[in-house]
Amino acid sequence: MRVYKIACIPGDGIGQEVVPAGEAVLRVLSQTQGTFKFDFETFMWGGDWYRKHGEMMPADGLEHLKNKDAILFGSAGDPHIPDHITLWGLRLKICQGFDQYANVRPTRILPGIDAPLKRCKVEDLDWVIVRENSEGEYAGVGGRVHQGHPIEVATDVSVLTRVGVERVIRYAFKLAQSRPKKHLTVVTKSNAQRHAMVMWDEIAVQVSKEFPDVHWDKELVDAMTARMVNRPATLDTVVATNLHGDILTDLAAALAGSLGIAPTGNIDPERRYPSMFEPIHGSAFDIMGKGLANPIGTFWSCVMLLEHLGEHSAAAVLMKAIEHVTSNKSLHTGDLGGSAKTHDVTHAVCEMLKGK
Ligand code: ATP
Repeated sequence: MRVYKIACIPGDGIGQEVVPAGEAVLRVLSQTQGTFKFDFETFMWGGDWYRKHGEMMPADGLEHLKNKDAILFGSAGDPHIPDHITLWGLRLKICQGFDQYANVRPTRILPGIDAPLKRCKVEDLDWVIVRENSEGEYAGVGGRVHQGHPIEVATDVSVLTRVGVERVIRYAFKLAQSRPKKHLTVVTKSNAQRHAMVMWDEIAVQVSKEFPDVHWDKELVDAMTARMVNRPATLDTVVATNLHGDILTDLAAALAGSLGIAPTGNIDPERRYPSMFEPIHGSAFDIMGKGLANPIGTFWSCVMLLEHLGEHSAAAVLMKAIEHVTSNKSLHTGDLGGSAKTHDVTHAVCEMLKGK
């Protein structure tokens, strides 16, 4: 029987509640499927680790992860630690260390979810947004000198490389090709950013020639926000730079009903390293420790994890259980206007998997 080694990193805040919930669901799924098993190892890295050790994860942390088949991540963020430390010290260290250059975020309105776009039919909104995850605006290149003085200078330099752009655009074309609509929208801002984004556009044209069966179009990032709201059915697969993708995916999550539902995968398409799956929400300290967190974003991330492992039928079974549970409003958590607890939702998904 196949045994998958999974690293669990709950991180901070509600990550510590939703990751164990995800682990519980995956355990039940492996028992009911009977064809594979999971070997979980949990790493308690994050804000508390930082307070004790002065770093978000050990210096050799990636060594502990590199032989895993996948990573299930919660969230990193702590009100008492600056955001750039929590982000760069853990999540980005893993994303960059393992060259997880494609951040993939599916968005759909799940059954029973009251989404804000009143004119949008459920089938109109079925997107996968691919966000470049290794360079661009978040390359970490820049500096700050003369701090506090009137002559202070600070820069964050966006860096796009031909290799980096080509590989993520090719990944997005392949993904678009695998979906029924075979449609890709390349998000750009080459009207105002006249160097790197112009190269981005040129590379899109070049790569498109490898995929003659994929229809594609180009959209300026500002116009894209309006198109997502006004004409959602005209979109299918989308590719964007790191910053543009960051913003558009949060909009996508809100349009689909709640931050608590949306999943993401940080993928190394070449499979040199483990890929990492996580709900898109943050640590949500306002509700932590109360059992109020919606675990659906984590469960959907587990679906993505299973698909990445090639366990497609198990992934479909879990997705069906998730949709069954979201369609029942008495199982909605506070973020969806309900009063169910993390445990209620987790229990309901597990019972559904057991066929009860
Ligand atoms: P961070 O600083 O780590 O990004 P945050 O608390 O600023 O985290 P989010 O966690 O992304 O921001 O979410 C904002 C708010 O949405 C939270 O304060 C919380 O009330 C709500 N929320 C987010 N995720 C969930 C969830 N899974 N279940 C229920 N409510 C959620």
